[in-house]
Amino acid sequence: MQLFPQGPAALSPTAPAPDAKFSAPSSLEVAVIGGGPAGLMAAQVLSAGGAKVRVYDAMASVGRKFLLAGRGGLNLTHSEAPERFVTRYGDRQDAVAPWLADFGSQAVCAWAQGLGVPTFVGSSGRVFPQDMKAAPLLRAWLHRLRAAGVQFSMRHRWQGWDAEGRLRFATPAGERCVAASVQVLALGGGSWARLGSDGAWVDLLQARGASVAPLLPSNCGFDVAGPQGQGWTPFFRSRFAGQPFKSVAIRVRDSRGRVFARKGEFVATQTGVEGSLIYAASHLLRDEIAAQGHASFELDLLPDRSPEQVLADVRHPRGSRSLSSHLKGRLGLEGIKSAVLHELLDKSAWQDAGQLARAIQGLRVQLLAPRPLDEAISSAGGVRLEGLDDQLRLHGVTPGGATVFCAGEMLDWEAPTGGYLLTAVLASGHRAGQGALAHWRGHSESSAHAQ
Ligand SMILES: Cc1cc2nc3c(=O)[nH]c(=O)nc-3n(C[C@H](O)[C@H](O)[C@H](O)COP(=O)(O)OP(=O)(O)OC[C@H]3O[C@@H](n4cnc5c(N)ncnc54)[C@H](O)[C@@H]3O)c2cc1C
Repeated sequence: MQLFPQGPAALSPTAPAPDAKFSAPSSLEVAVIGGGPAGLMAAQVLSAGGAKVRVYDAMASVGRKFLLAGRGGLNLTHSEAPERFVTRYGDRQDAVAPWLADFGSQAVCAWAQGLGVPTFVGSSGRVFPQDMKAAPLLRAWLHRLRAAGVQFSMRHRWQGWDAEGRLRFATPAGERCVAASVQVLALGGGSWARLGSDGAWVDLLQARGASVAPLLPSNCGFDVAGPQGQGWTPFFRSRFAGQPFKSVAIRVRDSRGRVFARKGEFVATQTGVEGSLIYAASHLLRDEIAAQGHASFELDLLPDRSPEQVLADVRHPRGSRSLSSHLKGRLGLEGIKSAVLHELLDKSAWQDAGQLARAIQGLRVQLLAPRPLDEAISSAGGVRLEGLDDQLRLHGVTPGGATVFCAGEMLDWEAPTGGYLLTAVLASGHRAGQGALAHWRGHSESSAHAQ
């Protein structure tokens, strides 16, 4: 897949000239490490408040995952009411609510509009930029940040702190150490590592005593057990991998009694299932596999028909037609819907109209494992919110006396797709930026008094 058709340098905020070793900027410069949407939003708030800001990023250009999100239309936020919106953050909603109160979905739309990118509400209530692209928005944002004086140091991979508490970066010119009394970490989660967010920061922060929940796949696909416990059969895989299950519903009830039931779409993959409907249930399915070693969902292939209708059609005399032709003719079951029934339903159940009708509207799909974190849309886990104050300042991690803030997907919250990810990422960047600004002002005033 070619992610950057014009080359990533097209969005590079600086010429990638390596900075000199130990050319430490003033410790009054706020260091934002990670140039994804969370870090850029923190940099925006800080520079608007008068702080000198430098953004460091491991990659040659910033915002690569944001650009990737643009390939799917860039779902920026959701138009639903704030009371409903906040529930999307599950058991983290109380912690996320204040971030959204300051910078919620309306603020996201106003921010995009302010960058010359109007938004629209799609039929599902999801909000997108009018051109459905990320690159124009990112380009305008970087232009604004540069104009406000934000500096960028690319190809600076943060590697922790040195003995004096300076930030250590691996750069093409070798190691570079930078003093900064206020630091914002916005290092992303652990998926799509080739775009920069590799989760390597977990060990670095844990070594300093920060409490970090393991990074786990969120909004992810799953491997299925298939008929023999070894995935789809070669026949099913070769014919149907990549094909969608459309207008279906899934139901999940986990061992804790949590229930998920929704209509939608998903896709068969080489090893299992993925796509929006599966992503929406993925936190339940992932946690169930972790707790029980396996999980399953019921697949309703005909969610718009009543069980009585389906049973009547299955029972209807079929004359000389095969059962498959009968189901196709009476119920429209064909293609991947018919194939998955053949794949997963016992031969004996095909002889019993009642069992067959029930399976058509509740076929059990057993899952073995979530797909690896690197393939996921987002990560669960991260820096525990209990270890941060309400300005997202990290407790107990004060390298060389510096104050450290964290923002974005590296924090321990998760949400479904629908614009909820980017909204909380931007909102937490906004909040950490405000917290960092207040600390930066304190530092600059005390150093002005000292002179
Ligand atoms: C395929 C896909 C589609 C998506 N679509 C959507 C969507 O439509 N809507 C939505 O809301 N969300 C979407 N998301 C999720 C969204 O893109 C992320 O949640 C968001 O980008 C996270 O922002 P962040 O700033 O926290 O981290 P990232 O965007 O991951 O940025 C982190 C930055 O930190 C840098 N970094 C990491 N480690 C280091 C280090 N050690 N030193 C220096 N720099 C480092 C990285 O290079 C990167 O630039 C999608 C994700 C994927 C994978």
